[in-house]
Amino acid sequence: MTRLQDIASCVAGYDPNALPVAQAQEFIARLVPRVDTIESVPIRSALGRVLARDVVSQINVPASDNSAMDGYALRGADLLVDAPTALELVGTGLAGDAFVGDVLAGQCLRIMTGAVMPAGLDTVVPQEFCSASEGKVTIPPGVVQPGDNRRLAGEDLAAGEVALHEGRVLRPADIGMLASLGQAEVAVFRKLRVAFFSTGDELRSIGEPLAEGCVNDSNRYTMWAMLQRLGVDMLDMGVVRDDPAALEATFRRAAESADAVITSGGVSVGEADHTKRVMAALGDVLFWRIAMRPGRPMAIGQIRSSGHNAILFGLPGNPVAVMVTFYAFVRNALLAMSGATPQTLPMLRAASDKAIRKKPGRTEYQRGVVSRGDDGSWRVAITGSQGSGILRSMSEANGLVVLHHEQGSVAAGELVDVLPFDGLI
Ligand code: AMP
Ligand code: MG
Repeated sequence: MTRLQDIASCVAGYDPNALPVAQAQEFIARLVPRVDTIESVPIRSALGRVLARDVVSQINVPASDNSAMDGYALRGADLLVDAPTALELVGTGLAGDAFVGDVLAGQCLRIMTGAVMPAGLDTVVPQEFCSASEGKVTIPPGVVQPGDNRRLAGEDLAAGEVALHEGRVLRPADIGMLASLGQAEVAVFRKLRVAFFSTGDELRSIGEPLAEGCVNDSNRYTMWAMLQRLGVDMLDMGVVRDDPAALEATFRRAAESADAVITSGGVSVGEADHTKRVMAALGDVLFWRIAMRPGRPMAIGQIRSSGHNAILFGLPGNPVAVMVTFYAFVRNALLAMSGATPQTLPMLRAASDKAIRKKPGRTEYQRGVVSRGDDGSWRVAITGSQGSGILRSMSEANGLVVLHHEQGSVAAGELVDVLPFDGLI
């Protein structure tokens, strides 16, 4: 038995000719290996990289109790509950220039945000509540409780605590956290190398004359852009003609230089070209018909050349199918290969503006525009024609409407799941 067959036998309900999306995702998750090389990079080069080790805080952040407000620091025990509290003002503490000396019962300190709280003081009264004159500060009753407006040492990060876990894709706040820990460099997994090319005799590259029956190769550019967003290293291998020798040479070069190889086109059932045959000859490759729309045909497996292995994703040729299969399968697989801990993407529930026809037994990814109605609820309109060759439907959309495997037709006004394209960070 080959390894792919081993995996298939672990996936309940595996049927290569009508494979539910969830089963295909499970299969791929079991197939893909994780990179194991770790490198250290300066934190400003670490945005979007995957953390290779837990980051444990060596210090307390903040290092000392300090004030959260500009105001007066005092002992909570001195506050009177039903009468103004009058305290003697003994000095000032600034951020970076702490008050030196004791502040006793009945005394208080002028304090600025971030200034260290002297021993014994546990409360800060914001300055706008207080009146100060001739060395005395008066605080009305009830404006603060003991312990208010004080930040505790280690409340952000305590020494010895895991600040960031291995497998995290680093975001802006994480870069700042690393800086707050005083860490100049961080251990990340090496970047994944991904090779990609388009197959099809009808494809022309930008600048080549477009003869009758030919189309410009758009998939390679969409692929470049999608991979760019994932932060992987890319190897663009161009358009490969339907010629066995050219295909084999390209697949071999890809397998030797990349962790993953992504192709588009040539994997349809009944396809007359050589792509499938060459894929199968170079490794362990399955040809799936996935219960989804768009994106039904797909090849998956491993190819080998000169002792090097690469995971192969043979995507369909239609431009929308390329994007949908990339987001349904390849994105998560590349993230897992990069060492990232799997994350579930947030979805919106939005009311469909029209009825949508849908057969149970396959997952459909329609392209939609989500917007917020006057009542604050989300609604979604499907973008124009949903043909799998119509890339404009994807370009005009701001989200994918996910009609799940078991789901049937949707009535106008019914809530559907939408995967938004855009996020804040
Ligand atoms: P295939 O999966 O090879 O049967 O291709 C399906 C459809 O997608 C055909 O109409 C192709 O012309 C088109 N197509 C395939 N590859 C590309 C590409 N790289 N850019 C634009 N269209 C493509
Ligand atoms: Mg083709």
